[in-house]
Amino acid sequence: MHTHPIRINTPLTMSVYLKTLGCRLNEAELERWGQQFRNAGYSIAQTPEQAALVVINTCAVTAMAVRKSRHAIRQLARRNPQARLVVSGCYATLEPTSVAAELGVDLVVSNQDKDQLVERTRHLLAQPSAPVAATEPGSAALFARGRSRAFIKVQDGCRYRCTFCITTVARGDERSRPIRAIIEEINQYTAAGVQEIVLTGVQLAGYGNDQESDLAELLAAILDKTDIPRIRLGSLEPWGWPPRLLDVFANPRVQPHLHLPLQSGSDRILRRMARRCWRDEFSHLAHHIRAVIPEVNLTTDIIVGFPGETAADWQQTLELVEQVEFGHLHIFPFSPRAGTRAADLPDPVSTQTQQTRVAELHALGQRLKRARLSRYLGWTGPVLWEHQPRQGRYWGYTPHYLRVTTPLPVSGIRATQLSTLDASGEFLHAKLLETTPTTEVTVNHARC
Ligand code: SF4
Repeated sequence: MHTHPIRINTPLTMSVYLKTLGCRLNEAELERWGQQFRNAGYSIAQTPEQAALVVINTCAVTAMAVRKSRHAIRQLARRNPQARLVVSGCYATLEPTSVAAELGVDLVVSNQDKDQLVERTRHLLAQPSAPVAATEPGSAALFARGRSRAFIKVQDGCRYRCTFCITTVARGDERSRPIRAIIEEINQYTAAGVQEIVLTGVQLAGYGNDQESDLAELLAAILDKTDIPRIRLGSLEPWGWPPRLLDVFANPRVQPHLHLPLQSGSDRILRRMARRCWRDEFSHLAHHIRAVIPEVNLTTDIIVGFPGETAADWQQTLELVEQVEFGHLHIFPFSPRAGTRAADLPDPVSTQTQQTRVAELHALGQRLKRARLSRYLGWTGPVLWEHQPRQGRYWGYTPHYLRVTTPLPVSGIRATQLSTLDASGEFLHAKLLETTPTTEVTVNHARC
């Protein structure tokens, strides 16, 4: 660690720049810290150069994620050497000593202590307590101003031990937030104009195991006690669901999109991964979901080239991906991660074979996505538009999480018609309609 000259900052002038890498859970945590810093009288800086304090939430899910985390720490320290630097997240938890040794890092906060990150940081900065005005109700959600969607962390940790997963080591046992606290946070976001929340957790399906509650109960409470127009579930492991979870999708505020990590379509490989959902079970689950929510968009994660993956195993994965008709694939070429059991497994797959399989899966994923998007040509319904343009265009998502775009300025939920598929096959072009927006999904089921 290095020392800084003593600086005196009043709470109202102190600004903090927040940066995250990795998963949605990290994003959700960053948003909560943003709220807590606001409550404590800090402002949120748009660039690191404007900030007196920089906070980074790191990731360690792959060797690449570790490299990116280290790069981000160094880059931010370079961009503003005067700012205090606080580092948290999975990389900081797994390798606290190397993180602390990085030039410019003032404080390392492990995942176990994340809930106290703001308090610890303020202690580090020897801040006096925040003025009363800064903690008035509603100010918490100011961080969300100008945002259409927010990630809400509802659960952390996982009791399973998938052999490739470092997250389970980095994030410890399962812990769920009380329903009351989640409702309060969502209501603050709603008051700040946020129109969609995404519930995230390391093992979201396990929400409430430690609280005599479950995910279905949480969703029912959110529907009952908040007015947030759209509720989306983050990544959900395909097992251990509470009974009647799918019933909540009858309410159009719950968005018809589920991200279910499959990882492999071969039982032999799933066993080596220590997963809890076999090939046939996944297939039945997908079938059942489509029967209950006909317009659902299913997306997934696949690990390519897991140790021992033969050509026959690979073929089974391709077949299952095709059969389930996933609308989007997150493809992860396997790389051994120190500290996981998979790192010691025999029979590695050669880099060349892995690259060939990645290319094959990528092509299949593109074909499936193109087919899914094409089904929605002419679809009319509510799209949630982001407030800020990117690459000179405005971007939004349908309830099914299909990406759409328009050159015209637009924001919030607007009735929209999908007109053409982009040549890239990655998104649809949209036409805004004059009619009153609605949260009702008006998908033609026969076409989905
Ligand atoms: S269930 Fe998910 S979070 Fe838990 S160990 Fe497996 S991959 Fe990791």
